[in-house]
Amino acid sequence: MESILVLTHTDESGSALTKTSLEAVTAGRDLSAKLGTPLSVGMVGGNISAADAIASTKARILAVTGEAFTHPRYASDAAACEALCRTAKATLILVSAGSRFARVAAGVAHRLGGCVDTHITSINVDGAFTVSRWFYRQRIESTLTRASRPWFLLLDAGTHAAFAGEPASAQVEQIAVTLPALRTRITGLRSPAQDAQTIRPDARLLFVAGAGWTKKQPDGQTHTSEAGNLILDFLRATGASLGSSKSLVDQGGEGQTVLPFLTHMNQVGQTGSTPRHPKGLSTCCHGEEPHVVGWRFIGDRRAISLDPNCGWTRGKADVVYIADAFKVMQKINELLAHTQP
Ligand SMILES: Cc1cc2nc3c(=O)[nH]c(=O)nc-3n(C[C@H](O)[C@H](O)[C@H](O)COP(=O)(O)OP(=O)(O)OC[C@H]3O[C@@H](n4cnc5c(N)ncnc54)[C@H](O)[C@@H]3O)c2cc1C
Repeated sequence: MESILVLTHTDESGSALTKTSLEAVTAGRDLSAKLGTPLSVGMVGGNISAADAIASTKARILAVTGEAFTHPRYASDAAACEALCRTAKATLILVSAGSRFARVAAGVAHRLGGCVDTHITSINVDGAFTVSRWFYRQRIESTLTRASRPWFLLLDAGTHAAFAGEPASAQVEQIAVTLPALRTRITGLRSPAQDAQTIRPDARLLFVAGAGWTKKQPDGQTHTSEAGNLILDFLRATGASLGSSKSLVDQGGEGQTVLPFLTHMNQVGQTGSTPRHPKGLSTCCHGEEPHVVGWRFIGDRRAISLDPNCGWTRGKADVVYIADAFKVMQKINELLAHTQP
């Protein structure tokens, strides 16, 4: 019989579980109900009280807590996860695939003689136990199963709703961990200012900038700094996440005028990212297939382009505005300025 362990961790405050952890808890609770097997949740982090948020799952809760485990570090996180797995003796281990656990999952699976699969988007219990993931930049969906156990499954963020049960005082089993010699010391935390960070996975809207923003406009001139201001004003007012076409981020390497706040990290598409947002607005982008394939998981797709024959109008967007994005975004920013508190 299968048994399930969900590996979770707290956020930087040490007192709450991360959103991706709560998503994995939902996946574990649903799977345990479908299989009729016991559920354990393992927690790594600063404060034991963070487990109160998942008390209503009625799962067995195991925790490795304390100052050494508040912040991510390979050696301490791997040791904590290994101890949780050895205590729970689970056959299926669901892992929240944020950067913290994505880094240690393969190492922990190796220590336990198990196997690991990443980018899991769904778990199916339909006769056989199978999981799904996408390959080749989300062009091919595959369903797979494995006989070897324990099987570690890293769940892609956004594929399950975050668990939101009524908080209660959780019964938690504290697991002792003998730490190996630690080479990495955490001396503090530095993060960019909120408006300097343009990639926001939790934003409701993805705003994509294309190469058109830096092209010559009807007056024969480029208007790159005006473009930059329009985009940044819009991001500040809406909290949208910023994506880019490849052509635009590539321009920096070609010595052309660029938008200084864009890097290849912003690139969406076949050789970029495949973000998940309820809505997307593309501007000054042609909507070519290698770009649009990165929009696979965007719910409502809209585009502003001057070209009535662009890829977006050929069935790739739900709504296309054939218009000058400079004028449209200026108007939108004016309207947003009036609606700000
Ligand atoms: C193997 C491979 C992998 C690739 N991977 C990716 C990838 O991951 N991501 C990606 O994005 N691309 C990728 N590409 C490149 C992709 O094919 C396109 O070349 C690229 O997406 C084009 O970017 P763009 O639409 O911003 O630029 P352009 O094709 O130059 O289009 C600019 C658009 O802006 C419009 N425009 C100009 N001014 C305005 C204005 N004032 N208002 C409104 N619209 C305006 C123009 O009408 C035009 O449609 C890949 C290509 C290959 C071969």
